[in-house]
Amino acid sequence: MLEADAITKHYRTSRGTVRAVEGVSFSLPKRGTLALVGESGCGKTTIAKMVLLLERPSGGAIRFEGQDIATMPRLALKAYRRRVQAVFQDPYASLNPRLRVGRIIAEPILAHERPGRAALDKRIAEVLDIVGLPAAAARLYPHEFSGGQRQRIAIARALAPRPELMVLDEPVSALDVSIRAQVLNLLQDIQDEYGLTYLIIAHDLALVQHFSSSVAVIYLGRVAEAGPTGPVFADPRHPYTQALLAAVPLPDPDHVLSEAAAAGEIASALHPPSGCAFHPRCPHAFAACPASVPPPHAVADGHIAACHLLQETHA
Ligand code: SF4
Repeated sequence: MLEADAITKHYRTSRGTVRAVEGVSFSLPKRGTLALVGESGCGKTTIAKMVLLLERPSGGAIRFEGQDIATMPRLALKAYRRRVQAVFQDPYASLNPRLRVGRIIAEPILAHERPGRAALDKRIAEVLDIVGLPAAAARLYPHEFSGGQRQRIAIARALAPRPELMVLDEPVSALDVSIRAQVLNLLQDIQDEYGLTYLIIAHDLALVQHFSSSVAVIYLGRVAEAGPTGPVFADPRHPYTQALLAAVPLPDPDHVLSEAAAAGEIASALHPPSGCAFHPRCPHAFAACPASVPPPHAVADGHIAACHLLQETHA
C-alpha cells in the first residue's frame, strides 16, 4: 500500500545542510503495521511528515498503491488526503480548544464532502462510539476531557473521513502510563474491525513489539535494521537495536541480551559522524566503521541490518 524508495530530506540552514533523512526505504502492505523506531532527532517524524505531504522529499519517492505522491494527479491527491489520516502525540496541542468536539470531528469530513446535517451528526456519533465516547461528547470542549479521552477524540477525528492508512506519531507517549495500553488496544481493535493500515512512529521499542507487524529502526536518518517484528526482536543484529532492546525491561528472565544500552547522545544530523553514524557510541566499532557507510545486509527473509560486522569477513 505504501512504499518509500530511498527517500532523503535535507534542510539547508545558515550553519550547513541538515541531513534529516538519508536514503530510507520501506514497504507497508495493506492491513500491516510498520513501526519506525528511534531516538528523537533520528528523522522518523520527518518521514511521517513526508507521508502526510507536510514536507517534500529532497530525493527518492513515496508511493501509495504504486503512485508517486509527489506527482499524483489532482483528484488522486485529493483522495490521498482523505485516505491518509494522522493521530499526533499531544492531544492537548492537536485539538483546537475553541471548537466543540463535534466540530473538531466534522472538519476532516467537510474537507472532502458536503453531507447533510443529519448524516454528519450520525457519522460524528458513530466515530465517537467507535472510540468509546458517548454521542453527547460532541457538544463539549476538549478541556472537559482527560488526556486519554482527548486522544480518543483525536482518533475519532482521524477515523471520521474513513481513512485506509493512519499515521500514528507517538500516539501514546504523552499519556499516563496507566492508560497507554487502553489506547493501544483501542487502536488495534479499530485496525482489526476496519482493516486499516498503520504507520506508527515511536521511540519506545517495547511499545511496538506487540503492536506492529514489521519494524524499521532508524539511526540518524538511515535504517539501521528492519524486518518482521518477531525476528528483529528475537535476533537483533545491529548493535543499535541491541542497545535499544537492552534498555527495555523484558518479562522473560531467560532472555539474555548481550549489549548494554548505547551510551551518549545521538549525534547531530548537521554534522553526522563519518561512515556508520553510530560508531562513536558503538561498543563493537572497528577500523571500517568510521571509514564507510555499511550497506544493508540480508540477515534472513525480509530482515536486514546495516552493520560492517555482518559483512562476509566478519560474519
Ligand atoms: Fe557498530 Fe561498526 Fe556496526 Fe556501526 S558498522 S553498528 S559502528 S560495528
